[in-house]
Amino acid sequence: LTKRCQRFEQEALLLLEQGLPLDAHFYDCADCREAREAYLRIQSGLRGASETPRPGWEWGRRSWAGAAIAAGTAGVAVAFALTRPRAPAPLSVTAEIVRAERSTLRSSSPQPGDELKLTAVTGGARYAELRVYREDRQLVLRCFPPESAGAISCSRAGDQLQASLRLPSPGAFQALVAASDVPLPAPAPTLAEDTESLLRAGARIAVALPIRAY
Ligand SMILES: [Zn+2]
Repeated sequence: LTKRCQRFEQEALLLLEQGLPLDAHFYDCADCREAREAYLRIQSGLRGASETPRPGWEWGRRSWAGAAIAAGTAGVAVAFALTRPRAPAPLSVTAEIVRAERSTLRSSSPQPGDELKLTAVTGGARYAELRVYREDRQLVLRCFPPESAGAISCSRAGDQLQASLRLPSPGAFQALVAASDVPLPAPAPTLAEDTESLLRAGARIAVALPIRAY
């Protein structure tokens, strides 16, 4: 398992929420830089969606719950939860890498062939789906039991949705969980469009930090 720096989730989210500057660590540390880029990418998606507010939603900066939930033993952490102001229950997704047998010590980074395991907590929503995008534009996994595509496994037990995927190639893999009490819209061609489409449909979204395979 890969141990990554979690200072972005633990410290930087709060500073950003308060409009405060980040210290040099968050620009120098590769893990924090990647977390920050994911944050900015999703936040810009939110701003796009905020142009057409839906009843019952408060858009804008406060839409970011900024909930940083460290993923217990996994080492690879969860990122942020986007929630409505009076969200019924938290929504989250954690990602972890299980190394393939043939993986050698030559690299501590995830590699193609390793397994990406996702565990989401669905916040009691009636409909929930895990989606994984490669490089923000190639949908490589959908899991909405009993249906799935691209998954080694996909199951739901109560409030937990679990899926796993064999990393098919190098690249950045971004997982999201979407939840709603009404059926979710079909995926859009890119992560940004998908995020916007889900939010417009009233879904809640949480994203994991991107996993990069080399
Ligand atoms: Zn860091």
